[in-house]
Formats: sequence, structure tokens, C-alpha cells
Amino acid sequence: MTDGQLTGRVALVTGAARPRGIGRATALALARAGADVACLDIARPYESAPDHGVATSDELDQVVDEITALGRRAVAVRADIAIGDEVDAAVQLATETLGIITVVANVAGGSGPGFGMGPLIALPEAEFRHVLDVNVVGTWLVSRACASRMVAAGEGGRICNVSSQAGKRAFAMIGAYCAAKAAVILLTQTMALELGPSGISVNAVCPGTVDTDLINPNGLFEQLVGGAAGLKAFIAREIPLGRLQSAEEIAATIAWLLSPDAAAITGEAINVSAGQTMV
Ligand code: NAD
Repeated sequence: MTDGQLTGRVALVTGAARPRGIGRATALALARAGADVACLDIARPYESAPDHGVATSDELDQVVDEITALGRRAVAVRADIAIGDEVDAAVQLATETLGIITVVANVAGGSGPGFGMGPLIALPEAEFRHVLDVNVVGTWLVSRACASRMVAAGEGGRICNVSSQAGKRAFAMIGAYCAAKAAVILLTQTMALELGPSGISVNAVCPGTVDTDLINPNGLFEQLVGGAAGLKAFIAREIPLGRLQSAEEIAATIAWLLSPDAAAITGEAINVSAGQTMV
């Protein structure tokens, strides 16, 4: 995507704050393309899963500073996307500050230790529900809040959800996450059907294995697959292009789907997995 393609647009990116995350990379990519950006993040520990890593409030402010330094307008909005009232207040604040949002990247989500990870027959009910709440309900709540305003404004718009390769095929130990990310794909397709007549496209990106702090905090992923040698073997066995993906590579595809270059695409779920998943 070329610089300036989103000049004059207002974008909202969820999960925008974690320093090595896909959301931060997306917020910066959209700003470089010319958009003003509302950066939404929970920016506080989960009450129900305090050990699951999320961004801090300072990290959210830092992204806003970086976007401002690029010459774009930006605002930090704090909300748990799983809580409707918080989402509505955040989208309202972003709209009042920057103007009508016509570009949305639903990046916030995840799973991990204490947050839906483990064999399905042993998973606590609250954890399973929490993973669905954040990944599915949260994506829908943000889309609903933004798309209802886009429809009223009558100028069309673009939404890109972040699903996962785990929404297309099963991975043991992350069953709640697989179910949630599969739901995100059908949510994407249904919203694309419903919003197409209003000139709003809705697509999803399905990342593969991305080197962010979600899966690889302090080298956790490397430990899980058996250290440096295990990681090398995993990559050689599982990923045709022979490497993990970067947050910036996922962000580039999200930004492209949100750009005029992708105007004819809607209802798709595009893999960015270096070949790890091809379905
Ligand atoms: P990350 O943990 O680095 O970033 C996630 C961001 O979302 C953080 O800033 C966090 O504070 C925020 N967040 C989490 N829960 C939130 C909530 N309830 N409300 C608001 N903000 C919240 O993760 P990442 O690796 O950048 O992942 C981003 C997205 O990509 C997620 O949806 C994840 O499921 C998906 N994904 C990641 C990978 C991977 O390998 N990293 C693979 C496939 C899909």
C-alpha cells in the first residue's frame, strides 16, 4: 500500500498498545498511509486472568505519541472490548475527538496460560467463556459500535478482523481459541453480507505463528517446542517459508485490506502464515 492512500480517513485499531504486537504495527501502518488513528486497548490487567499479558496504560500512550510524531492525529481510548458499555463509550470518545470512523482493525484478542489454554476436557468454564467473550463478542461489539455509525453517515467503510489459522484448523491445547477464531470468520462473512449494501467491506486476516508477546513472551514459545533446536525443527517441519511471521507483515495485509486497493474484496479470510496453513 502506498503512503497517503488513507489521507482524510479516521481509523480505529483495537489491541493497539503492546510494543511487539500486531495492533501497534497496524496503527502505525495506517498512520503512515495517512489515517488519523484512535488506539483502543484494555491497558490494564484482566481481573479474571491477571497473569495473561496485556498492554499497560503507558504503552498505549506511547503508540499515540508515535503516531502524532508521524504528523497524524491520534487518541488513546481505554476499553475492554468484551464489555459493551466500555466499547460504546470508547467509540463515542474516538468519534468526538477525531471524527466519524470509517476504517476499523479489530486486532485485540488472544489466549494463553490461564486464559483458555489446556485440554478441552479440563478447561474451567469461566476460561472458555472468557476466550469467546474477548475474541468473538469483543470483535462484534466494536464492529457494531463503528458500523452503525458508518451506516448512518452513509459514506461506506472498511473493517478487518483478526482471526487466526487456528480458526481454520484444529490445534490441541487451544480449543477455546480455535472455536472463537472460527466464529470470527463466520462473523466476518455475515457482516460482509449485511453491510455490503451500505458500501462497507468486512474481511479477516488469519495469521500463522507470529513472533509477538502473545505467543512468545520471553521466549515461551521456544521453550514449549524444545528450545532453540526444537524451534528450528518446528519451523522446518511446519512452515514452508521457514520462519515465523512478524507483526509488521500481518499489519501490512490488514492495512492493504483496509485500503482502496482492496475495494473489491469482502467476506474473505486471508492467511498470512508463511504457508503453515493453506486452507
Ligand atoms: P498481543 O498480546 O501482542 O497484543 C494484543 C493486544 O490486545 C494487547 O495490546 C492487549 O493489551 C490488547 N487486548 C487484549 N485483550 C483486550 C481486551 N479485552 N480489550 C482491549 N484490548 C485487549 O497479541 P498479538 O500477537 O499481537 O495478537 C493480535 C491478534 O492476532 C489477536 O487477536 C491474536 O489472537 C491474533 N493472532 C496472533 C497470532 C500470533 O502468533 N501472535 C497468531 C494468530 C492470530
